[in-house]
Amino acid sequence: MTPKTKRLISLDKKHLWHPFTQMKEWAESDPLIIERGKGNYLIDTEGRRYLDGVSSLWVTVHGHRKKEIDSAVKKQLSKIAHSTLLGLGNTPSIELAERLAEIAPGGLGRVFYSDNGSTAVEIALKMAFQYHEQTNRKNRKRKFIAFTGAYHGDTFGSMSVGEIDIFVKKYRPLLFDTFRAPYPYCYRCPVGKDKKDCKTACLNALEDILKDHHEEIAGCVIEPLFEGAAGIVTSPPGFLKAVRRLTRKYDVLLIVDEVATGFGRTGSMFACDAEGVVPDFLCLAKGLTGGYMPLAATLTTEKVYKAFLGRYDEYKSFFHGHTYTGNPLGCAAAIANLDIFKDEKVMERLKGKITLFRELLKRFESFGHVGEVRQAGLIAGIELVADRKTKKPYPSDERLGHRVCMEARKYGLIIRPLGDTIVIMPPLSITGSELKKIVGITCDCVKRLTQ
Ligand SMILES: *Cc1c(COP(=O)(O)O)cnc(C)c1O
Repeated sequence: MTPKTKRLISLDKKHLWHPFTQMKEWAESDPLIIERGKGNYLIDTEGRRYLDGVSSLWVTVHGHRKKEIDSAVKKQLSKIAHSTLLGLGNTPSIELAERLAEIAPGGLGRVFYSDNGSTAVEIALKMAFQYHEQTNRKNRKRKFIAFTGAYHGDTFGSMSVGEIDIFVKKYRPLLFDTFRAPYPYCYRCPVGKDKKDCKTACLNALEDILKDHHEEIAGCVIEPLFEGAAGIVTSPPGFLKAVRRLTRKYDVLLIVDEVATGFGRTGSMFACDAEGVVPDFLCLAKGLTGGYMPLAATLTTEKVYKAFLGRYDEYKSFFHGHTYTGNPLGCAAAIANLDIFKDEKVMERLKGKITLFRELLKRFESFGHVGEVRQAGLIAGIELVADRKTKKPYPSDERLGHRVCMEARKYGLIIRPLGDTIVIMPPLSITGSELKKIVGITCDCVKRLTQ
């Protein structure tokens, strides 16, 4: 190890506090320090190259050092790096809003910016709540309904609608009450007996809650097509559409959290597009800037927007705003990101990659310790289990998912598990041969560690 790497690791261990990390374990580990990126590879301070198998935590879209995004950011930098949206407009934020309105599911033409996925959801929650307060004099719609296994971020509002126990358990005394409907996790179905039953049973459970409590419910929050942090838990086709139908029937605003699914990863630009769904709020972050900058957007309808209009002293304004709202560098990166989708026909070229990925993933089917492989477009979760037949999980202290991912590093692949589910989520720019390499290394590592 070079002296530079040694120094950086020791300073990291001395000063940094890493997210979602047991720092005692980190302090005893041998961390990689990433210095550069190129295409679908990350390069560490030792000059070693790694395939970026999880898109730098689900954000990178067209690869690293993408020429067009690099130069868009540089060009913006030569004009101004930041100017506020509080009381002023700025060029890239306006141009990006127009572009987002163009491609968003029908009618979502109003854009509120923030910096990350959690705030994108938090903003939708506050807007939905305030919308009902300001449109209904007898309003009792002050709660939300969300799904089992949901993850919507780490702020108090987004944690309150989330349900991953180990993430939120400690904070529960501070969270607001949320109605909870079952997400159709077919494989360990919470209500139904088999795949067909599960969707109907989950929808019935949702409708039962809406029927009894719709007068108390402002909005319904959902991760469309799959629940990411729960372990890439895919939902059956038509589920999102049915949720849209029910929320409309009971006058509950639908908040679709596309922080993970947005920008092509599931095979359509937005997961909503696959089912022809138009939500009341669309939350975007991760891939918005192609994975370059912390930028998020909450899109909504004119109907919601109009409920916030009035005289200044009616105090109907939306009282929310982050200092870096609409940051010009982030917006410039996001515009370049959208241009690339168009210029390089990214969505068309993705189809073949998704088919290849599906083929490659079949290799796991014969594995004795793979309980299920779940795929949504260019995303997959490979769930490792102690017993394939009973789906009995491994004891959590074995940290099998973690160990598989650590092993993969030795072969030049960065992946990250969710519990014992191995997640593969490469950039959309991944090539066929890189995809083969990613699945090949993962297969070998799973085999080696589960024998
Ligand atoms: C990552 C994620 C979030 C949170 O986004 P941050 O930028 O980490 O705050 C919210 N919802 C979903 C579905 C996510 O995947």
